[in-house]
Amino acid sequence: LGRKLSTALASLNRAPVIDDKVLDTLLKEVCAALLESDVNVKLVSQLRQKVKTKVKAQFEAGADRGKETNRRSVVQKAIFDELVQLVDPGVEPYKPKKGHPNVIMAVGLQGNGKTTTCTKLAVHYQKRGFKSCIVCADTFRAGAFDQTRQSATKAKVAYFGSYTETDPVSIASQGVTKFKKERFEVIIVDTSGRHKQESELFREMVQISEAVKPDMTILVLDASIGQAAEAQGRAFKESADFGAIIVTKMDGHAKGGGAISAVAATKTPIIFLGVGEHLTDLDRFAPRPFISKLLGMGDVQGLMEHMHDIAAANPEKQKEMAKKLEEGKLSIRDWREQIQNVMNMGPLSKIASMIPGFPQDMLAGSDEEGTLRMKRMLYITDSMSAMELDSDGSCFLTFGKDGKPEGLTWRVTRVARGSGTSVREVEELLCQYRMMANMAKQAGGKNGWMNAVQKMQ
Ligand code: GDP
Ligand code: MG
Repeated sequence: LGRKLSTALASLNRAPVIDDKVLDTLLKEVCAALLESDVNVKLVSQLRQKVKTKVKAQFEAGADRGKETNRRSVVQKAIFDELVQLVDPGVEPYKPKKGHPNVIMAVGLQGNGKTTTCTKLAVHYQKRGFKSCIVCADTFRAGAFDQTRQSATKAKVAYFGSYTETDPVSIASQGVTKFKKERFEVIIVDTSGRHKQESELFREMVQISEAVKPDMTILVLDASIGQAAEAQGRAFKESADFGAIIVTKMDGHAKGGGAISAVAATKTPIIFLGVGEHLTDLDRFAPRPFISKLLGMGDVQGLMEHMHDIAAANPEKQKEMAKKLEEGKLSIRDWREQIQNVMNMGPLSKIASMIPGFPQDMLAGSDEEGTLRMKRMLYITDSMSAMELDSDGSCFLTFGKDGKPEGLTWRVTRVARGSGTSVREVEELLCQYRMMANMAKQAGGKNGWMNAVQKMQ
């Protein structure tokens, strides 16, 4: 989905004039990409209509001030905002409070990833200083308690369950009562699923819910269930009034669009994404960074968090980088460092998708192919002089009277020859650097969306 959307938006940048025809074509591409990822048809056609109306109104109001570049950003922003609307129901999810027993109940069909997600959640909250534990109220699936026991032990979190008790309601209340007494702060109740949405399952959920009175019920949805997600969301909403959604298996070839439709259908926010089978494969979800990542605009927030994690070894460097990113003052040298960081961080595809303006087509193919492409970029920067590296790239360009870049200087040829690459590749790198620097500039600063995102969280 991401690649298709960013390709569609890139074509917007290439169009010399932004007229109704360009807008229509672009919207068609965006909608096709959304439909293909299983976003509900009605939602997609609504989005199309809304973007059209919005853009028209803005053009008529003169928001473009007669400039094509402004027209471009009007269109881009309209699409961006409407996509954000899709995953943002405007509802604040419950936030666990310290020094208080926060009961969280997970529901969802069998195999959607409830048990795995419960452990991930416990680890997440434990890391943030909440005394966390898991209650296994799944008496339906054989070996369910063993699964909880194993993963909870691995995660070093407390757990409760029974091999003999067959009443899930009784186990749930026993466990929650016990952990409340022991002053646990996050008590996660894992329930059983069924293969289908059966009345028996819904009855059981209502009973457990009445017994443990959860502060938050989470619907766990598998990203790969496609269009079925919407109906599933609605059915669960009726009996277990969940207040949050976690979408799992986002690391696979899943078409997350179904889950997006479930959000819209139930007006419930996604709080986390499951991105792998390991205990730490849980990403916090926020609508704006999610969509900018989808559009190839990077996830500055996520990137900053990740850089923070890995650069703990070099705090000075890290501070400097974050400051530059915020001020929008990134040089080619910084861009080079970003590439190098990405290569050291691995897995490539995950990290690279967080970097603003990081060309999504560089991620095409396998991680090995991507690494090779990035290595070539490093060779190119290796052939640059210190002055060139510290510049914003304008020394590689000639400019016309109107101040717009017109051509390339001899430096490009020299770097291409020196690095054993081609003029085209050097040009491409400069182009990618520009995109990234512009993105960072837009993202940073007082009025940038990065600031807005940070305030939001
Ligand atoms: P439950 O029946 O809802 O409790 O589902 P489980 O937690 O037992 O998970 C079912 C399968 O999905 C297991 O093999 C998990 O390892 C796998 N799984 C869960 N979450 C993720 C995820 O985010 N990514 C991947 N790749 N696999 C996951
Ligand atoms: Mg389970």
